[in-house]
Amino acid sequence: MVPASVEGACWIVGREAPVTVYLVGAGPGDPGLLTLRGAEVLARAEVVVHDRLADASLLDLAPPGAQRVDVGKSPGGPVRQDDITDLLVAKGLAGAAVVRLKGGDPFVFGRGGEEALALASAGIPFEIVPGVTSAVAVPAYAGVPVTHRGLSASFTVVTGHSRPAVEADVNWEALAQVGGTIVVLMGVAHRDLISARLQAGGMPASTPVIAVRWGTRPEQHSVRTTLAGLPGVAVEPPATMVIGAVAGLDLAWYTRRPLLGRRVVVTRAPDQASQLSTRLRDLGARPIEVPAISLAPPADGGAALGAAARSLAEGRYRWVVFTSANAVDRLFAQLRDARAFGGAAVAAIGPGTGEALAAKGIVPDLVPARSVAEGLLAAFPAPATPGSRVMLPRAAVAREVLPDGLRDAGWSVDIVEAYRTVPASPDPALLDAAATADAICFTSASTVTNYIAAAGADRIPPVVASIGPVTTAAAVDAGITVAVEASEHTVAGLVDAVTAALAPSGLATGG
Ligand code: SAH
Repeated sequence: MVPASVEGACWIVGREAPVTVYLVGAGPGDPGLLTLRGAEVLARAEVVVHDRLADASLLDLAPPGAQRVDVGKSPGGPVRQDDITDLLVAKGLAGAAVVRLKGGDPFVFGRGGEEALALASAGIPFEIVPGVTSAVAVPAYAGVPVTHRGLSASFTVVTGHSRPAVEADVNWEALAQVGGTIVVLMGVAHRDLISARLQAGGMPASTPVIAVRWGTRPEQHSVRTTLAGLPGVAVEPPATMVIGAVAGLDLAWYTRRPLLGRRVVVTRAPDQASQLSTRLRDLGARPIEVPAISLAPPADGGAALGAAARSLAEGRYRWVVFTSANAVDRLFAQLRDARAFGGAAVAAIGPGTGEALAAKGIVPDLVPARSVAEGLLAAFPAPATPGSRVMLPRAAVAREVLPDGLRDAGWSVDIVEAYRTVPASPDPALLDAAATADAICFTSASTVTNYIAAAGADRIPPVVASIGPVTTAAAVDAGITVAVEASEHTVAGLVDAVTAALAPSGLATGG
């Protein structure tokens, strides 16, 4: 039967009014499983009404000023569905851009249908943004395909939510005869009954079963058993159970990543942190970004850098030497035309800086094998004409080894202030979370000193990883033991080092 309110909603076709309420599937946990459309509507939400299962970082996609309403948690347990629906209708009628963020897919046991019906009958335009359902994604993250040639030609998703539902709403005996995969959501508490009913329907006691708790999240944990063994295994909700021959496959990948669930503090300035965090996340880690420094414009507002950029265009420099990607970005911001480099040769202290140059269309003429000032000096040519000029755009405070060495070699060096690093004041709650992390990555001497000043030397995670010798020296000076130093002084090298320190065997085990 079609409820009357759905018929009443026909006017939505060809509507003029803008959509105000979006029912968005957040996916089962891994924030990467949110759809592009979901991210788009979150980015312009004024109100976000979210469940408990939605990953907290998804909420960061909404504008900072957006109202966030957690309907998964409240002192008396979860908010009642009627109250959620009333809230959506009230906010929708007020014309706010509302995102209702739901675990998995909104229409797979998500009560999204009820919410959409209420919106339709209140005349509120809405949009459904489907999500990646746990029914498919959780098995996939546990290495179980829900269909597989020769093993299963169908899958059925059923609820095991309440005793009456398990007893009356699902025809388990019939399901047992289908021969395909059975995916049970919300069924952990009634697994004894489910097992008995399926066996009564003729499903073999030896049928493989996998129960996956907190799938797609760092805490993911699987238990493998059989239909007969299911009542006796220990498993807690929220879990997805997969029953059928496919549950005997083990294509585990997610839990094999070497840093699975390890918490690693990333201390770079916010605009630099993402590359390091992304690489750590790819290996399964949970990065905690604590900016120890922030980048600020030079004290003179960039006047000296602008003048140096003009001198470069006039052909006054033989070399430009970059010691950081920041300096590359700041100098390029002052250039109107990359041909300003004209006849000047370009050096990068290491591969990271070299990549920043390559992104601007400049292939460095010199990248030393050792990514430190001493390595660059060793590789740097002597001037053909003594007193030829070198531009060194860099942070306000930096080591003097490089300019001194270049001058000793006969170059005339202009140090140009391209940016300043200033201490950041991290949120105390973030510092508390960071104190209990597994490891911390330091990428420069200034991140070391500023982090220790903010957090305290006694609240440094057990494994300290450093990008190179200068950073290590700063840590040692501050009384910190460095567990591992990157052999290649780049973000990739640092990630390799921290991986070696945290997962010496290379592979984590378990499902
Ligand atoms: N709409 C959701 C399902 C809501 S019902 C979706 O499409 O995924 C909630 C149930 O989904 C849980 O009880 C559990 O059985 C399953 N579930 C959701 N997230 C899960 C996760 N991360 N790991 C395992 N099971 C999960």
